Amino acid sequence: MTEEGQFRALYNKYRPQRFAEVVGQRHIVRILQNALAHNRVSHAYMFSGDRGTGKTTVARILAKAVNCLEGVQPEPCNRCDNCLGVGRESFLDLIEIDAASNTSVDDVRALREAVRYRPGVGRYKVYLIDEVHQLSRAAYNAFLKTLEEPPEHAIFVLATTDAHRVLPTVRSRCQHLRFRKHTHADTVEELSRIATGEGAAFNKGSLHMIARNSDGSLRDAIGLLDQALSYADEELTESLLREMLGITGVEAVARLTEAIAAGAPGQALMLVGESVQDGSSPATLRQELVDYFRGLLLVKTGLRDQDVLQYSEAELEDMQRQAERFRIGQIVECIEILAESSVARRSGFSPQLDLELASVQACLAMAADAGGVASTRPAAPAQYASRDAKPAPPPRAKADGSETQGAATARDTDADSKAVPDDITEALRADFQAFTAAVKEWHPIYATFFEESRLSRDGELLVFELTKPGYVDALSKPDNRARLRDIVADLTGQSVGVECRLRPAESMDRSGLDTDNYVTMHAVKMYGAEIIEDNRPQ
Ligand SMILES: [Zn+2]
Repeated sequence: MTEEGQFRALYNKYRPQRFAEVVGQRHIVRILQNALAHNRVSHAYMFSGDRGTGKTTVARILAKAVNCLEGVQPEPCNRCDNCLGVGRESFLDLIEIDAASNTSVDDVRALREAVRYRPGVGRYKVYLIDEVHQLSRAAYNAFLKTLEEPPEHAIFVLATTDAHRVLPTVRSRCQHLRFRKHTHADTVEELSRIATGEGAAFNKGSLHMIARNSDGSLRDAIGLLDQALSYADEELTESLLREMLGITGVEAVARLTEAIAAGAPGQALMLVGESVQDGSSPATLRQELVDYFRGLLLVKTGLRDQDVLQYSEAELEDMQRQAERFRIGQIVECIEILAESSVARRSGFSPQLDLELASVQACLAMAADAGGVASTRPAAPAQYASRDAKPAPPPRAKADGSETQGAATARDTDADSKAVPDDITEALRADFQAFTAAVKEWHPIYATFFEESRLSRDGELLVFELTKPGYVDALSKPDNRARLRDIVADLTGQSVGVECRLRPAESMDRSGLDTDNYVTMHAVKMYGAEIIEDNRPQ
């Protein structure tokens, strides 16, 4: 028995037996019940929709309703021999065909032949043809003749996950009913009904977690619940699911998000390491992080709908607070970074490094906004390696959201300028955003040149270390230098000389201050990677 097969028991046990029990397809149920009530059932239906949305279930209820010994009515009685026969999958006049394995013309000819004969015990022969889009063209053509003039006693239900691949000539002869993905709320409610029916102890958060991981398929969700219940001796909780499914809880994702909000790459790396060590798959964790940031975006833009967001009310409360730490643009940037990490793909690194890189990049994006990325130093490798030395977890969310931790991190970690604490560089770093805003007002494109820039001093000169020679050239023009000097003077009240230089490529022994390099070093250390080529912009 396949693994999936093992966990179908619960799904079958709680499979809806009446239209009233069908979850999330009210529009379809109404159409069918109306037809049944007025004895106007169509001879050909096409049921389209994702797997696990209930197509087969509804087809079986329909087969009962038209064959019920108590008469054709909007709900089957579920007591008569015919209804019970369908329930036991032993009713002769319900013929279920898998088009994926019965695709030949001969199969269809046999079907055509069989259709002509009257039903054995029921009123109607109901043909449920699953994955009908897999029929060959020849088989379609043979079938079309039957569909053009169906006998009075036949009802066809053509089920497909891909309606567009069904020939238009077939489609046009059917009444097309589109099954919707189950909403998050529907899924949680159904899981709750089943878990309660099984007498299981569970917390609501665990059901939300299962629903989130089933992508709108009720069947998958119930399969996961089945798996979870056979695994759990005690109460079903998020941590148990995490252990079992290798998925990360919202809490861990929220903490990682907190590290990104704070622009703290060291913290982020440590949290990724912990989650992976606790059994999360890096690829899944990454997807969850993307989903979470999408949630932040929706919350931030005022769309706090549980069905769309698939988080519990308590989690949404936390997200609401956390969203205040980001601007919309920053969330979008983080999603872009997290959803795609070209560096790692190019290098063929492991999913863990891929996620680590993306997390660090997201941190850097935040830190750059908060106070200049120049001085954001990641945690030392030794600290990352030792789980004992982990710092206190970051706060889940700041209620006031007033302090930007990125700026604080930037100040604290810059050893170079500690000797001159009231230095002008210090003042600029503390409010680098004000500086970039002022540059942006002058010249929006020049403002982008300061992304990933570094700020340092050379004697009396204030030095902006930029990442591209082109940036340095542009901003080194006398007029532009003068303008930068004015902006700095406006912001700090001090007039100093300003110079732009190219940010030097890091040598290994200076890597302590360079996060890009740190990640590479980390890869070398952890995966035995070899540096073949240095593609970083010079
Ligand atoms: Zn009946």
